Amino acid sequence: MSEQEFKRALGYANSAFDLLKRSGIPPYPQFYELLYTYSTGVNPTLNARINAIFRNGDSPTTNLAETLYNEFLKSDVNDRMSSVSERMHARIEAVYEAIDSAMTTANAYSGSLQSASGDLEREISVAAMKELADKLLSETRRMQETNRSLEQKLEASRDDIASLQRDLDDVRRESLLDPLTKIANRKSFDEGMDGAIAEASETGVPLCLMIIDIDHFKSFNDTYGHQTGDQVLRLVAMTLKSNIKGKDLAARYGGEEFVAILPSTDMEGAVIVAENIRKAIQAKELLKRSTNEKLGRITASFGVAAYRPGDTPATLIERADRCLYAAKHAGRNRVISESELEAMQAQVEETKDVSAA
Ligand code: GH3
Ligand code: MG
Ligand code: MG
Repeated sequence: MSEQEFKRALGYANSAFDLLKRSGIPPYPQFYELLYTYSTGVNPTLNARINAIFRNGDSPTTNLAETLYNEFLKSDVNDRMSSVSERMHARIEAVYEAIDSAMTTANAYSGSLQSASGDLEREISVAAMKELADKLLSETRRMQETNRSLEQKLEASRDDIASLQRDLDDVRRESLLDPLTKIANRKSFDEGMDGAIAEASETGVPLCLMIIDIDHFKSFNDTYGHQTGDQVLRLVAMTLKSNIKGKDLAARYGGEEFVAILPSTDMEGAVIVAENIRKAIQAKELLKRSTNEKLGRITASFGVAAYRPGDTPATLIERADRCLYAAKHAGRNRVISESELEAMQAQVEETKDVSAA
């Protein structure tokens, strides 16, 4: 995390705490998340709702915060996760019950066999023998019955557990996707980064990281509305995804920022990929879906950094972030790599030397 990013996050956190205090809402994690999100402004619809309350001179109440949290933030992945887990629990209980009852019957059966073998050791009459055989036969039938029913129950459980397993896989897959753009989310990016860095450090194969930030997106949102803005985020995500391949991982880093991990790619190759994506984004003519109104074009800026031995995810991200910042500074709609940034900085130093001379 860059210092700039850290300061920004701290600012959001402070403002979220202030709002909680001011409104007398308990600082539980979900309410903190709600007001943190409000402070970042990433969800204009949520902000409009909360602003309307402040405008009336009121403060949001705990009840309202609960409603807003459920509406805007509570992810249904959590809901589905608990439903899967409840069903899993019920299934496991049922299997235990079936096994318990089968064991009780088996114990009783084994008791009957034992007492029968005791009887047989003594001399017994034909009539008693017949009675014993009848008893054993009926006990055996009962045992068979129980076994059959256990088999059926286990069979049903096996099918159920297989379907739960599929649900669990779906939930896991979804928990790694950004709900808006359906590309990988921050969580899968973090996992991917750990893996990519471990591999680069073990094998010495190059690795690059690309950070993308849409240019002037705030004013795009302000002009055309948040929903159209969301469409643009989907479009950028798709453009990014269709321009990478193989082991590359494209993810939404947050807001209007995207990242791509490019394993087995050197700086030169990564810059080519970034340029392709930059041009592809710029080439798209945006149309408003509902009205076919032309919305012009959008552009994005790119920072590209290459793995160096000893890098952690944080240091690599920070260098890519610095390149992105330089790309914004240099006029946006461009790709700046670390090598280019170094060359630019050397030139600045040279100019300083010349003017000092
Ligand atoms: P710059 O060129 O310097 O990057 O300018 P910018 O306006 O893109 O940057 P800034 O960080 O000031 O604003 C980012 C904006 O992105 C704020 C918000 O309106 C928008 N945004 C972030 N997340 C979302 C989202 O999920 N949906 C929509 N529609 N807009 C979002
Ligand atoms: Mg940004
Ligand atoms: Mg931006």
